[in-house]
Amino acid sequence: MAKSPFRIIVLGPPGSGKGTQAVALAKRFRIPHISTGDIFRSHIKRRSLTGKTVARLLRTGTLVPDTLVNGIVQKRLSQSDCKRGFVFDGYPRTIQQAQYLQRTFPPSLVILLELPDREVVRRISGRRLAPDGTIYHLEYKPPPASLRKKLIQRDDERPFVVRHRLKEYRILTKPLIRWYADKGILERIDGRPSIATIAQRIARTLSRRLATSS
Ligand code: AMP
Repeated sequence: MAKSPFRIIVLGPPGSGKGTQAVALAKRFRIPHISTGDIFRSHIKRRSLTGKTVARLLRTGTLVPDTLVNGIVQKRLSQSDCKRGFVFDGYPRTIQQAQYLQRTFPPSLVILLELPDREVVRRISGRRLAPDGTIYHLEYKPPPASLRKKLIQRDDERPFVVRHRLKEYRILTKPLIRWYADKGILERIDGRPSIATIAQRIARTLSRRLATSS
């Protein structure tokens, strides 16, 4: 592994599998996985002031203002476990956030998981949550018939909210692709294959990058 901190960003539309791949990378390199979405959801659960401020935004799939997100990120990155690096999932999502990160903790690599819009809507709007926390998918991982009536759909996974999240992604987050490509640290990965295949491709990309940087 590189001696300098290994700072990875996993970028991609909602439903592209960012979380899954980011968790695997964090485990492999023993660095923290940081999901700003998870941090906000935990604030909402605890009913903190931040949680109260962002609850409606999350329900409607609207981005939280940059200053608030950057403040939360700064607090998290100042913790000692981030010294060796980190894997971001869901941050940065705007040019202002990317500029902030560049000034404070410049990333080493950005992995872009690419997925067509219609696949995003299909993946997310089919998801259902069981009372025990298991996530099913009406098409890809059908729930047992006995559970059908007990399943719930997360507010931000309803089709019209997903379309809104996609619009935000297109307008505010997609410009980051070019921004990071210009810095020479962007790697594009097809988000359509299986989780294992994507993980393999990311591993290959990382080995190549690490070999050329050492
Ligand atoms: P996620 O779980 O990453 O899809 O995030 C869920 C929601 O949290 C998003 O739809 C936004 O409302 C909010 N959020 C998470 N990360 C960010 C970010 N970097 N910038 C703005 N809003 C965010």
